[in-house]
Amino acid sequence: MSEILLDVKHLVKYFKNKKGTLHAVDDVSFSIQRGRTLGIVGESGCGKSTTGRCILRLQEPTSGQIIFEGKDILALKRNELRKVREEMQIIFQDPFSSLNPRKTVSELIGEPMRLHGRYHSSQERDVKVLRLMDIVGLAPRFVNSYPHELDGGRRQRIGIARALALEPKFIVCDEPVSALDVSIQAQILNLLKDLQTTMGLTYIFITHDLSVVNYFSDDILVMYLGKMMEKAPSEKLFENPLHPYTKALLSAIPVPSIHNRPERILLQGEITSPVNPPPGCRFAPRCPHCMECCLQETPAYVEVETDHFVACHLYGRDPK
Ligand code: SF4
Repeated sequence: MSEILLDVKHLVKYFKNKKGTLHAVDDVSFSIQRGRTLGIVGESGCGKSTTGRCILRLQEPTSGQIIFEGKDILALKRNELRKVREEMQIIFQDPFSSLNPRKTVSELIGEPMRLHGRYHSSQERDVKVLRLMDIVGLAPRFVNSYPHELDGGRRQRIGIARALALEPKFIVCDEPVSALDVSIQAQILNLLKDLQTTMGLTYIFITHDLSVVNYFSDDILVMYLGKMMEKAPSEKLFENPLHPYTKALLSAIPVPSIHNRPERILLQGEITSPVNPPPGCRFAPRCPHCMECCLQETPAYVEVETDHFVACHLYGRDPK
């Protein structure tokens, strides 16, 4: 078995607001082996992006441990964290809003190297910028272009080049293709896959789209209102989903053939408020299998078969 690069233990992120405490990420734990991809899926507000940002300490977690290459990054001092940050990068969903419109492609890609004191001369940095542009498939003629002069796919290539500039080991890809045209999505996904192979990168791939995550991920974690619902190797999750929420998500994926199309599970009921959520399963108000116990006890997250984890009272306990 290959080495674990990232180990997240009991990660919690709460936000206090006027109404109470918003449970954005609630006791999330997982590990990722070097060179592999964990897909995190769920609807908007499930905590997937907050999880990614807490791992990079772009948001400070409320509690938990984030062990990267054996170091607990929540315990690191500023200088140590700066060093580790070079190895942990992010690709954002909307390349346009994440890029400074007043900077050229060259400046944008060169910026991380400048801020981290890489390369002594601007000439050396320019050579590296051109190399990165080549790696991500941006023609050299765009080197002095501004973001607004480029299409969405090219802007996302700038975002990828920036993420690669410091030669990271780990990248959080936060909905990297959802703002792009369908025709360009496949190109960017293929690029990310190729980069993973050639550079040995480890990814967290965050998306609301299960069909994309299946193509991209070795393992998939399904989240709902800050909680882990199910996690399994991608193939297993698609072949044998256990959690009622995962089944509903999978039933919504468009299938080309009318013969193999699974029946769509339409979720009804109110979504539980993530502010001071009540005890019990957070999915209960929308779950077609809800039982008495689901309203009282939070289901434990248990391994029901090898590498297949689920948090649901239908598994691993005798229903009352
Ligand atoms: Fe449904 Fe109960 Fe399972 Fe929650 S614990 S998903 S309410 S069956």
